[in-house]
Amino acid sequence: MRDTETGDKTDDIFAAGTLFEATLAGMREGLLVVNKDMRVVASNAAAHKLFSASIARLKAQRLTELTRNPAIYNAFLDGLKGNEVGGVKVETHGPDRQVFDLRVVPIGNVNGRGADGALGVFFDITRTERLELVRQEFLSNVSHELRTPLTAILAFVETLESGATEDPESCQRFLSIIRKNASRMHGLIDDILELTAIEGGNVQLRVAPVELHSVVDDVGASLTRQAEAHGVTLENQVMPGAMVYADSRRLEQMLTNLIDNGIKFSRQNGTVTISHESGTRDRILVTDDGDGIPAQHLERLFERFYRVDRARSREMGGTGLGLAIVKHLALLHGGEVTVQSELGKGSMFTIHLPTTPAISPDKT
Ligand code: ADP
Repeated sequence: MRDTETGDKTDDIFAAGTLFEATLAGMREGLLVVNKDMRVVASNAAAHKLFSASIARLKAQRLTELTRNPAIYNAFLDGLKGNEVGGVKVETHGPDRQVFDLRVVPIGNVNGRGADGALGVFFDITRTERLELVRQEFLSNVSHELRTPLTAILAFVETLESGATEDPESCQRFLSIIRKNASRMHGLIDDILELTAIEGGNVQLRVAPVELHSVVDDVGASLTRQAEAHGVTLENQVMPGAMVYADSRRLEQMLTNLIDNGIKFSRQNGTVTISHESGTRDRILVTDDGDGIPAQHLERLFERFYRVDRARSREMGGTGLGLAIVKHLALLHGGEVTVQSELGKGSMFTIHLPTTPAISPDKT
């Protein structure tokens, strides 16, 4: 498609051969054409990268010299027999594991003796596969988490049905167990919905200057009952007047999750301290003098449902989603959350926030 008005030479890219080459070279999908002898007669850059960057040219190479993968070989063989083959899963190994969906079609003359050649297209499905895995893992975790309290509820309802109602004391105890488990399920569903909304980009941040000291006071007040139940003292060491840029409701949510954990995992008569440091970023520190977290768990701590001690977390009514929510909210603010912990001494969680609003109030 040459621009005859201007006679512009750059338009030569649209000359049939060049355009074809440029298209092939720009494709993310790997493309490989073999002849009857299973030798490569055409390929593109993506295929080259997929097979071996060490071979200068794929052309004229035998397919067996490029790969020992029987699935690839058989798909091309089928193509040469005149059959279309789809959905062949091909995996590369090594540090950058990739997964491809291979589709092979016969090309040229196709008669009783087969085809002249076969064209294979390798679609990169690494990301889709990974997301599918995450989805499956999430579903299985959710089902598992819901089943435990549900089983308890059913068991106690059955006990009540089979006559326990006659003893008012047991009746009251069973009802309170049912209530506890039902509210655990409720909490879990709330957290899942919250996390899904944040991850799905459906949470609108209203970032504005926030007076941190009073936010910490408010969060502390809402957690008084929990703190008293564990004999834990909350210490707000934030200087009055200290300002941070955040969505105040979301900041409260992050602090609630971190302080609540500090209380839950603190020791009896322990202290949870909240402080603030400014620098290139604002840092809000939530420190406890509890048991601390073994080093090998720190890297995965912010993953959904990751817990150091599953039974203990459940016993305390935890959902295993609190830290994942904090992580995503901190990221949404253009910041992050980090943890430092020493076994037997306690933990320190830090919310890092940009000192200027990284996100405009209208942006999700
Ligand atoms: P949970 O609902 O179990 O508290 P979280 O996502 O908030 O879920 O925390 C995940 C896990 O991280 C907890 O189960 C616990 O093992 C560990 N954890 C979080 N905060 C602390 C803390 N302050 N001290 C010790 N362990 C903690």
